[in-house]
Amino acid sequence: MEERILSTNLTPEDIEYDKNLRPKRLVEFIGQGKIKEHLGVYISAAKNRKETLDHVLLSGPPGLGKTTLAGIIANEMDVSIKVTSGPALERAGDLAAILTNLEVGDVLFIDEIHRLNRNVEEVLYPAMEDFELDIIIGKGPSARSLRLEVPRFTLVGATTRTGLITSPLRDRFGVVARLDYYTVEELEEITKRSGSILGVKIDSEGAHEIARRSRGTPRVVNRLLKRVRDYAEVKCDGIINKDVAMEALSFFEVDNKGLDKLDQRILMTLIDKFDGKPVGLNTLATAIGEESDTVEDVYEPYLLQLGFLMRTPRGRIATGKAYEHFGIKPKEDNPALF
Ligand code: ADP
Repeated sequence: MEERILSTNLTPEDIEYDKNLRPKRLVEFIGQGKIKEHLGVYISAAKNRKETLDHVLLSGPPGLGKTTLAGIIANEMDVSIKVTSGPALERAGDLAAILTNLEVGDVLFIDEIHRLNRNVEEVLYPAMEDFELDIIIGKGPSARSLRLEVPRFTLVGATTRTGLITSPLRDRFGVVARLDYYTVEELEEITKRSGSILGVKIDSEGAHEIARRSRGTPRVVNRLLKRVRDYAEVKCDGIINKDVAMEALSFFEVDNKGLDKLDQRILMTLIDKFDGKPVGLNTLATAIGEESDTVEDVYEPYLLQLGFLMRTPRGRIATGKAYEHFGIKPKEDNPALF
């Protein structure tokens, strides 16, 4: 099976590796300056007033640090964190069971909160607002509603798509923050931090090369670092410098802009297979054998940010920059030229 740098299907080994590299405190969290500053103020204020922190909604592409920030919030507030996800909460009862087991002040982290089912979402509203749960017991004429109190808690929701969050849900978050792709300098710092935790010998140029090709994403930094480390241990003397990083990354088919095989396949499908014409998301996803959601949430945001792909009302097209990247000349009547 093809191993993906951006894969969100984590193996137990990936989870252990990620856990060791995950910053635990706000000061260790690199980049996202404004968000960090704001959260720092809200956390100190809540602690001084001995209150629970407002609910926080974090959005942004995968791997930018939403889960990490949720853990940091819990650590900084000195409370425990319970982790779940939108698709895991199938019934209202699943959520009720979690909420009634929380301690006062705890953080409840719901990943992929945009995928919560409607019934569950409706139970969440009074829980977020009044720390109460309305539960229906029984069925038919004998059904009755029971109101339960739940401890005051902080909900941290994470989503890759703010557009899919309903407005009643979004309005119940006191803090809403959008994480952006990281700069190369920030990613370089993350590379060095992870390298020192793992005891990897890496120089500045080596770190820069990994950072530059990491699609603005800390998770990709850590994945690439792991592979480059393996390569350096097997093929060289274990030290990662610029040449070793470049060799290793081309060996793993991560190109000069940090695009992996699937990114390249998306662009080449638009350029070659569909001859530069606009292509609908579903058609594009089917052509490359991926889910539409994955293409839209995981791959496209970075290609858009690079200016390699455009979403037009008639479909996706590869831009002139993408043609240039592959050294292909667009045809005269190509929409990417206009
Ligand atoms: P998300 O929840 O947004 O998908 P994660 O919080 O799981 O992303 O982050 C993925 C990995 O990237 C984490 O294991 C962590 O080690 C690393 N990471 C994320 N943000 C940062 C950061 N700002 N500084 C250092 N490492 C980070």
